[in-house]
Amino acid sequence: MNPSNPWFLAAFGGVIILYHLDLIISLLNLAQFAKPLPEAMRPLYDPDTLLRTQDYHRQSTQLDLAQATTQLAILLTFWLAGGFGWLHTWTTSLGWNAIATGTLALTLTTVATAFIALPFTLWQTFKIETAFGFNRTTPRTFILDQIKTLLLLAIIGLPLLALIIWLFETLPYAPAAAWLALTLFSLLMTWISPRFIMPLFLRFDPLPNGPLRDAIFALSHKLDFPVADVSIVDGSRRSSKANAFFAGFGKSKRIALYDTLVESHSQDELLAVLSHEIGHSKRGHVTRLLIIGLIESALLFAGLHFALQSPAFFAAFGISGTPVGLGFAVFSILYKPFSLLLSLPGLWLSRVHEFEADAFARSAMGSPTPLETALKRLSSDHLSHPAPHPLAVRLHYTHPPLLQRLAALQAGALS
Ligand SMILES: [Zn+2]
Repeated sequence: MNPSNPWFLAAFGGVIILYHLDLIISLLNLAQFAKPLPEAMRPLYDPDTLLRTQDYHRQSTQLDLAQATTQLAILLTFWLAGGFGWLHTWTTSLGWNAIATGTLALTLTTVATAFIALPFTLWQTFKIETAFGFNRTTPRTFILDQIKTLLLLAIIGLPLLALIIWLFETLPYAPAAAWLALTLFSLLMTWISPRFIMPLFLRFDPLPNGPLRDAIFALSHKLDFPVADVSIVDGSRRSSKANAFFAGFGKSKRIALYDTLVESHSQDELLAVLSHEIGHSKRGHVTRLLIIGLIESALLFAGLHFALQSPAFFAAFGISGTPVGLGFAVFSILYKPFSLLLSLPGLWLSRVHEFEADAFARSAMGSPTPLETALKRLSSDHLSHPAPHPLAVRLHYTHPPLLQRLAALQAGALS
């Protein structure tokens, strides 16, 4: 690990800069609580709720920083003590072929990373989320979720990984082939996931006949948005936080509403939330984000291909030779800061989409009010940050802050 190796400088510098950037953003976001609450937010966050919100964010941020610091310390110790070189020597000594050796090396680093994150996830779920009344997960559900996730990764993730390693081991045009394979896989998953994977974690019950069901089908008819069926999902088994989502591709969509959303909102508010979701679909947001994702993965594979050609890249991590599988693992360290940069246009577009979907919901409902009251309720019920720092919004937020969404809804209503 020669400090004059440019790959080493880029990866090491990137890891250190990213850690400090996240630290600064977290602190800036917490410091926002010291400022007076914007006028429009005051009716939503009474002094008591505001204190609880601040406390929730302080505890979550402390935990995030503890996790980031622990992960950084372990990574740097392992890296600088020659851990990657040792892992390469040991996995190679088993005498397996390059694909099996690479898959094993990558699996071991992934499992180790997940293992380091586990105590922090446990603390977030069972200490912080419980203390603020959000958590409904039992230890049994938590453990079963972990086992199911591991099995799915083994059944679906490992073959895909082995395929991509094989492509990079054998084909001169590997990045293009890997990109195509990942694209086809993602399309296949949009079909498989709602049918076979989501039901492993959530129970989908048909929404019973009644005024809500009639109103949803009337709305879908009015907006010319064919809906195959509407389900209620038992999200309350894990968290009191509410949600709604669409499943399915193509002509007919399946709508899934979290039971927590249905319980805490009026019928008009639910229809406004659904109109917002329908707006995403009608305005082509899904397709646009899919294209951005495809561009990102093309850049990822091109960068990976470039790095894997260079023995100096492997030397930066103390690895002799050019093993592809382990190369993937260490490339993810180098790639992380770049992926943050690459995510910025997608995040910006996602926030623009939210404004467009809000505007769609406003005209669908003929008034901004139902969406406004739904957004306000979700924000204070979830103890969302009432005034996040603009830098935090730019770098991490897929949704604009509530204040801006309410202002845009009002501005549109007046025009
Ligand atoms: Zn949205």
